[in-house]
Amino acid sequence: MERKMTEQEIIDSFAEAMANDHIYPCYQPQINHGTGRMVGAEALMRWKNPTFGVQYPSDFIPVLEKHDLLYEADVHIFDCVCRFQKQRLEKNEPTIPISVNMSRYDIYRHEYVDEIEKRRQKYGVPVKYLRIEITESSAIGGMELMTAVIDRLHEIGYIVEMDDFGSGYSSLNILKNLKVDMIKLDLKFLEGDMGGRGGIILSSMVQMAKWLKTPLIAEGVETTEQADYMKSLGCSYIQGYLYSKPVPEDEFLVMLKQSAHEPTLPAMNLVNAINAGKFWDPGSMETLIFSNFVGAAALFSYQEGQVETLRCNEKYLRELGMQLTETDVTNSNPWDNLDAENRAIYVRTIEKAIASGGEETCETWRDFYSRLCGSDRICIRSHIRVIGNAGSQYLIYAMVQNITEEKKNYQQLFESERRFRFASEQANVYAWEYTIATKEMRPCFRCMRDLGLPPVIKNYPEPAIKLGIFPPDYADMYRDWHRRLAEGEPHLEAIIPLTVGRIPFHVRYTNEFDENGNPVKAYGSATMVVGDPPNAEKK
Ligand code: C2E
Ligand code: CA
Ligand code: CA
Repeated sequence: MERKMTEQEIIDSFAEAMANDHIYPCYQPQINHGTGRMVGAEALMRWKNPTFGVQYPSDFIPVLEKHDLLYEADVHIFDCVCRFQKQRLEKNEPTIPISVNMSRYDIYRHEYVDEIEKRRQKYGVPVKYLRIEITESSAIGGMELMTAVIDRLHEIGYIVEMDDFGSGYSSLNILKNLKVDMIKLDLKFLEGDMGGRGGIILSSMVQMAKWLKTPLIAEGVETTEQADYMKSLGCSYIQGYLYSKPVPEDEFLVMLKQSAHEPTLPAMNLVNAINAGKFWDPGSMETLIFSNFVGAAALFSYQEGQVETLRCNEKYLRELGMQLTETDVTNSNPWDNLDAENRAIYVRTIEKAIASGGEETCETWRDFYSRLCGSDRICIRSHIRVIGNAGSQYLIYAMVQNITEEKKNYQQLFESERRFRFASEQANVYAWEYTIATKEMRPCFRCMRDLGLPPVIKNYPEPAIKLGIFPPDYADMYRDWHRRLAEGEPHLEAIIPLTVGRIPFHVRYTNEFDENGNPVKAYGSATMVVGDPPNAEKK
């Protein structure tokens, strides 16, 4: 009959449970989420009663506390952990540091440190394989007592961890005063609220830990999103159901041996409902959709700065326009096509997509080579989205557009504008551009400097008239110019007395047209009149 034991049953069977190892530790691994490797573990107390089954700490620890039995149980767990470590070391098997919980009642027992030290020496386990977790609430019994215990543990060489940081009432005070070596942050206390206030609290606690130069472990991590988020805050050590529940010794042993050879990976976690595995099955619906219904797309994996193209569809190859085959693409290292600058842009975009969980876009230039087309420089716009991950390895879906032509046109335009600006700056001319469609005026640097104009003036020319740059008796003529420009007048000029000084300027407009003959942009200039201007439109 499996059920929770009553208080009386707990007390009555305690001695027997201790003697027969019914009270024993389970182990929960701590993983570096960046590498997937195990970095430590926590020993958590369990009680397996022959009649009532496994009992959990929340049910029996309060009873043991009440009857002053927890101390004995804690020392017993420490003993079990020493025994476990000794066996690993004797057999030359891989192992990692294991943290043991110390209750606040242990702090009142002055012999606690001596007692565990006796056990450690009995088994001959180096202190680096053992760690002690203390809780914030232990400080209630007095900071002096706690400081003394931590100092003694430090003298021996223990790493001391502050458990459940942030759950208590004066976390910052405690941290400031206690010399702990590691902090454990429990996400449970945020109740899943990572987006709003919880996220802010979390990031400030992480920040605080950084100021104190104290490493952090995030506990109670159940989802990849939480782990990724913690990693993005700079906390990569993760303990929680995402990687593993606390497991009995034999199971933990298997994990340890495995972790020595390969990173511990949580199961492939799909962000969307699609089944990534099926992308590799040629007959699956996913493949059918990928090949026929989506645009130019590729699937690749990303792990710590390295990428590998797994698949690309027909449209992707056509978009590149280099007569490449899918094998050409998947067999080459994508980084070979990108120089350092473009690679950095791409990696940043991937990292952003990982952090945001949404779609991120970037434009990168790539150098492609194909047997048929030789080499070419192509600009690709990529829309990137993470569709799954296993640990630090991400499965990424990229939709691409070849925007080389678009880019080249833009660059030509940009070049001509740059030359124009440069020329006007040199020639003692005030120059500006007027965009017909938006009625926006963009002044040159000299206009901005001498007339104090902003980089963009909307609803031009009204603000210039209002500012008095164009005098009131020329206002209607100047307004009319802009109407005529919009109607396609190719060229306009006049002598206009400008600015407060009413100095005569030769003002000119040259209109620019698109391929359909519609006016797009007019280039305006004003040069001071020196002597008699030719062909001036007299007012
Ligand atoms: P704790 O020290 O904060 O231990 C972490 C607790 O969170 C464990 O509960 C663990 O099983 C649970 N946990 C781990 N990952 C997750 C997760 O992803 N999601 C959620 N919701 N929970 C997770 P457990 O084993 O029931 O222990 C509860 C508490 O009992 C411990 O909290 C600790 O305060 C105490 N305890 C456990 N073992 C010992 C011990 O040997 N000595 C003492 N004094 N206290 C112990
Ligand atoms: Ca703990
Ligand atoms: Ca904890």
